[in-house]
Amino acid sequence: MNINQTAKDFSDLSLEPAPSHDDLEHSSGLVLTETEHPLEPQTSVSSQSPEENSVPVAANANFSYHENQQLFDSNCKQMAIDAHTSIVEQPFQYSNSTASIAGINNNDQTTNTDNNNRPTIGNKPRTLSTSAQNTLPEAPRPLWETPPSNSETATNGRNKNTLYKMGMIAEDSTQQVLDDPSPELVDLYTKVQECRDLRNKYQTLSLQNNDQNPKNSATYEVYPSPPKPSYNAETKTVIPVTNLPDSETFDFEACEIPGEDPNWNYSINEDDSYVVFKTENPEEKIAAIPTLRDYYLDLDKMISISSDGPAKSFAFRRLQYLEARWNLYILLNEYQETSVSKRNPHRDFYNVRKVDTHVHHSACMNQKHLLRFIKYKLRHSKNEKVIFRDDKVLTLAEVFQSLNLTGYDLSIDTLDMHAHKDTFHRFDKFNLKYNPIGESRLREIFLKTNNYIKGSYLAEITKQVMSDLENSKYQNCEYRISVYGRSIDEWDKLASWIIDNKVISHNVRWLIQIPRLYDIYKKTGIVANFNDTCKNLFQPLFEVTKNPKSHPKLHVFLQRVIGFDSVDDESKVDRRFHRKYPKPSLWESAQNPPYSYYLYYLYSNLASLNQWRAKRGFNTLVLRPHCGEAGDPEHLVSAYLLAQGISHGILLRKVPFVQYLYYLDQVGIAMSPLSNNALFLTYDKNPFPRYFRRGLNVSLSTDDPLQFSYTREPLIEEYSVAAQIYKLSNVDMCELARNSVIQSGWEAQIKEHWIGEDFEKPGVEGNDVSKTNVPDIRVNYRYDTLSTELELVNHFANFK
Ligand SMILES: [Zn+2]
Repeated sequence: MNINQTAKDFSDLSLEPAPSHDDLEHSSGLVLTETEHPLEPQTSVSSQSPEENSVPVAANANFSYHENQQLFDSNCKQMAIDAHTSIVEQPFQYSNSTASIAGINNNDQTTNTDNNNRPTIGNKPRTLSTSAQNTLPEAPRPLWETPPSNSETATNGRNKNTLYKMGMIAEDSTQQVLDDPSPELVDLYTKVQECRDLRNKYQTLSLQNNDQNPKNSATYEVYPSPPKPSYNAETKTVIPVTNLPDSETFDFEACEIPGEDPNWNYSINEDDSYVVFKTENPEEKIAAIPTLRDYYLDLDKMISISSDGPAKSFAFRRLQYLEARWNLYILLNEYQETSVSKRNPHRDFYNVRKVDTHVHHSACMNQKHLLRFIKYKLRHSKNEKVIFRDDKVLTLAEVFQSLNLTGYDLSIDTLDMHAHKDTFHRFDKFNLKYNPIGESRLREIFLKTNNYIKGSYLAEITKQVMSDLENSKYQNCEYRISVYGRSIDEWDKLASWIIDNKVISHNVRWLIQIPRLYDIYKKTGIVANFNDTCKNLFQPLFEVTKNPKSHPKLHVFLQRVIGFDSVDDESKVDRRFHRKYPKPSLWESAQNPPYSYYLYYLYSNLASLNQWRAKRGFNTLVLRPHCGEAGDPEHLVSAYLLAQGISHGILLRKVPFVQYLYYLDQVGIAMSPLSNNALFLTYDKNPFPRYFRRGLNVSLSTDDPLQFSYTREPLIEEYSVAAQIYKLSNVDMCELARNSVIQSGWEAQIKEHWIGEDFEKPGVEGNDVSKTNVPDIRVNYRYDTLSTELELVNHFANFK
């Protein structure tokens, strides 16, 4: 029906600037205007009257994003305005809540009857109705008692432990679903499905799904091979093994470097993206990657859908339902969960594997560590020549002389790198915190890989941090390290730094962060146009994929790289100054390209590269940008299409429809509430606990331990603060740790060792409680909730 009309409208869509781009809070219609709904845990969907929710949303919804207001055809408007007649009568959305209300009423009656009758029929057996049995509150059980078995309903031993209580469902609820659904509901679910199909197209074409990555196949060889297990869970014995650190066993000479691929070659297409074609037939491309125009059409389509008033209200309600469902689950099953994890031998929060899914490498050490390192160098290598400044080479002692400082003066306070007080909403100030004592020359000496001493100090301190990680055994980090795109040899220099210094550890993998700094390079004349930056970033990667022997160190380094990150201050305003964005070689203006444009060029080049790498059996790379930390919520739509996962995502709280999509597709979100607290959002307002309850795929990460952390174990500090403020249980923490492993980019064979042989299987089958310490009932609850939600999408979307 109207969706065809809509699609037609979009195909005529020009890339006209949005009228209100400069207004941050309301820059796109995606934003739910009455944003922070204070939702008390016990508030269920049914307790709020529909008027309270949907009418203000519809009234305040920003309909001005595009001129094509046909979207709000009479049906949709009717639904938004006349909430009583249309929303309340939607058959399924309310079936659960009406069912439970009916259930409670019945229950009350029976109880009353029981109460009334009990004195007269004293010897009648006291039975509970099924609904009452399902909502029976649990008492804590001592450890030595076996849990009550559900053997009547369980089919095998595994299922027995996965049944959870969720209240009752009325017997005729299935009947209600089979009735003809309301057209509004069909329309809404169809839109959800369209968005999901779009993401699927982009993800599949760029081979970002885990099962498409050659490194996840069983035969992929990880070198140096991962440490051997030191404990046999079945016999409960310790196996004597000596696991040497990778930095000792790694030998570059032992790496196999494949030769040139004669079958495929690369060039640049009309969008200035790299493409891979058959050598014999240049017309045959390796994959049909969406063009810049396709991408902006898809993006505009998604933005229109997600800024549609009824869609926003609908998604908001689904999210609230998910939260209410979680509250019910936890009320009824908490004791059972706790008792399962108590009975699970050996495992606790401290010895489940966890990954810090978002850390910037140049801030990976804590301040005390950096301070001690600087003092050590000042004491033992003060005459080493370390930096070229003002036409001469300075020794470390001379540098400190020029700063008028001695080693004795140095303290955490003089170092002044903590960002707690004065950086809120000041990303510029935060960036300056990377300079020890506010001095860029100390940053250059100690925190850069490419400097006069070839990054030897940074390598040394990184290896100390890695050694601490290896000793802690259960903590792993995905470090972000910069490639700027200022010159063509950056990749080779970085790879040499890694390989020559053996900055390699089985507890560490790398992501390449690309700062969005084109405007600065342009201003200083390093590049002539945006295409120069793209070329510096990607040409070496295509060269090394065609012929690894051309950049052998880069080839070996890339095996330890997971993917790309896009970083900078998101709160900078993206201005649209062109009717249509020019391609990179014509982008000669001093303006920085917007976030969505940066992300597209990372994506399009990566997609072709991945297709080629997969053909050659090399590991493919994913896109996991910083996104939704500040600025325009549109960034989240770009990332939903293009990226495998994101960091931060706190702005999802303002765009319910997009948040619902992130839930349905379980897009990984690495959240850092401590970092947000210093920069953009105070701890108590952080949406992290809410996302977690709703079942979004969230993990905890540290972002910048150097700026935010006080202890030797920043990741544990992050978990510990979250646990205390948000009242997370041990099971919650273990679930978060499991999420972090699933989100991370380690090879599947290593993940199998960490969280269980079958971790890729859905639901309980994929959970190994002896490794993850997450009870099966929790995993089953998450799985059931998600699959029910997906079933609804399928069911209603197929009515069209
Ligand atoms: Zn970050």
